[in-house]
Amino acid sequence: MGICREGIVDAIGQTPLIRLRGLSEESGCEILGKAEWMNPGGSVKDRAAWSMIRQAEQSGALYPGGAVVEGSAGNTGIGLMHVCAARGYRCVIVIPETQTQEKIDLLRVLGAEVYTVPAAPYSDPQNFQKVAARMAAEMDNAIWVNQFDNTANRDAHYETTGPEIWQQTEGRIDAFVSAVGTGGTLAGVSRALKERNPSIQIVLADPVGSALYNFVHHGEPSPTEGRSITEGIGSSRVTANLAGSEIDDALCVPDCETVPMVHRLLREEGLFVGSSTGVNVSAALTLARRLGPGHTIVTMLCDGGARYASRLFNQEWLAERGLGPV
Ligand code: PMP
Repeated sequence: MGICREGIVDAIGQTPLIRLRGLSEESGCEILGKAEWMNPGGSVKDRAAWSMIRQAEQSGALYPGGAVVEGSAGNTGIGLMHVCAARGYRCVIVIPETQTQEKIDLLRVLGAEVYTVPAAPYSDPQNFQKVAARMAAEMDNAIWVNQFDNTANRDAHYETTGPEIWQQTEGRIDAFVSAVGTGGTLAGVSRALKERNPSIQIVLADPVGSALYNFVHHGEPSPTEGRSITEGIGSSRVTANLAGSEIDDALCVPDCETVPMVHRLLREEGLFVGSSTGVNVSAALTLARRLGPGHTIVTMLCDGGARYASRLFNQEWLAERGLGPV
């Protein structure tokens, strides 16, 4: 039967690494994006979702007939739902109501039980993760995935994403740039790359309002001024996934750079991506200018633009926020 993948979980990963032609020519560097929206669930979080479910199965915490409960900005929930469907688990997702309707609708279409909650800081008991933890504790035969502090998340990137980038660049990589939600991507990829070549620069791309730019520069997480329209990234704290990572630098990317970059990627490269990808690619371009021509910089193309069409690709919505027209 030739080469065949064993179900959806076996189709996760091995995504293409795409040269961003316009940005590479402009900067004189090779700016390369890992096409994570091409995962079966449409985002980088498929890798973490499968890794966390697999480890829960292996530890005996999750078994047939069980339920998987998680707080998610959308993508982890979508990844979990796909894997749950394929493996026979119930999937319950708690999502802040500030996330796009597209992601909430998709979760329901896929078959997740979805609970929307008001956005609340991590310190608040009504924070989406804390609500999910309580729900799981009150259910029979249910696990709380806990993507922020469950290091099976970063293991996925240490075992797959990082080695794939090393192979696809044939080891010719000077820097890796990534935004952080849970930190799984940055932590796992950076560890895999630094093990192979410690001089590869690891750069955290942070949206405005996130606390991690200050964590990298001053050793303490404290928020920068402002609020970002980006979804799925930015953090108020150093998660267990992120803790101990070797991060060389951080860049803060304002929305007024992110939004035009997302639109540029569509117009110039034909790539339809979401806001976190705009942050990543903007930071990669800034880094390319700082390093000078001749360097290779890899970043993540985290998810697709359709999840944000009503906002990021809606000129009226952007104009109301001083971000358009673009
Ligand atoms: N981009 C998007 C669109 C996401 O949903 C996420 C995860 N919340 C990230 C980036 C960040 O990935 P990680 O959780 O691995 O830091």
